[in-house]
Amino acid sequence: MSKYLNTFRLDGRVALVTGGARGLGRIIAETLAEAGASVALTARNGESAAKAAAEIAAQSGAKTLGLAADVVKAADVEKAVAETVAAFGPVDVLVNNAGINIRGPIETLGEDDWDAVIDTNLKGAWLGCRAVVPSMKQRRWGRILNLSSMMASISMPDRTPYSASKGGMSAMTKSLALELASFGVTVNNLCPGPFATEINTPLLSDPDVNARVVGKIPMARWGRPEELGPIALFLCSEASSFVTGADFTIDGGYTAQ
Ligand code: NAD
Repeated sequence: MSKYLNTFRLDGRVALVTGGARGLGRIIAETLAEAGASVALTARNGESAAKAAAEIAAQSGAKTLGLAADVVKAADVEKAVAETVAAFGPVDVLVNNAGINIRGPIETLGEDDWDAVIDTNLKGAWLGCRAVVPSMKQRRWGRILNLSSMMASISMPDRTPYSASKGGMSAMTKSLALELASFGVTVNNLCPGPFATEINTPLLSDPDVNARVVGKIPMARWGRPEELGPIALFLCSEASSFVTGADFTIDGGYTAQ
């Protein structure tokens, strides 16, 4: 293989993907496994994590592990990292992918809605970073990829908690990237536009809303989850060795308007 393509390989690397049983996380886990990494993935439901991990192992031949962990709970996050280390060795690549969205006009949202979105999307990613950084720093290599959103830089009505969480994630990424820049550990944000996954069921299932969303996308279609794999791999591999603290948009042109 050429010296350039080789930099995308993850042979011998260990990756942990939160919320990796379905959607974009599943695609990222599949891509990292295909590139040669041993991949642990988490879900709140251990059975779906184990099922997804087994399917990815069968597909790719990689070593995989499905773990039950709620990203909001520090003890779960620490345990998932410890279980990954016990099975495969220290975590080289962390993908903070788990996320939720609760939509609605501000006066209809409860404090519990705000807390759930901020805790899952922002605190969950912070807890993940905190759990893997000491070992990455010590070994002077690491890749942290945060699944932010185009909603970190632009927004739309009825998205106050979600947009705040993703904006926070982008800012947190920059701070941590600076903290770790001299240790060979990169921290980047992947900012998807509209992808057809379960998080968008309320938009996909209503034909009028769906048509409005598609009407705003210059490419006039939803992103296909598998289109996210290659850019995630770039940011999780040696290929992106001089990239840190950056936001990578993948949105069919949405934010170029
Ligand atoms: P999805 O709903 O299919 O997947 C989200 C995953 O996160 C699920 O596996 C879910 O179980 C998991 N999860 C949620 N809360 C969790 C918790 N507390 N602990 C552990 N796992 C938890 O949606 P998706 O589109 O695959 O979203 C993945 C990420 O991409 C999210 O962070 C989302 O905000 C972000 N994103 C998605 C889009 C899009 O259009 N699909 C756009 C921008 C950003």
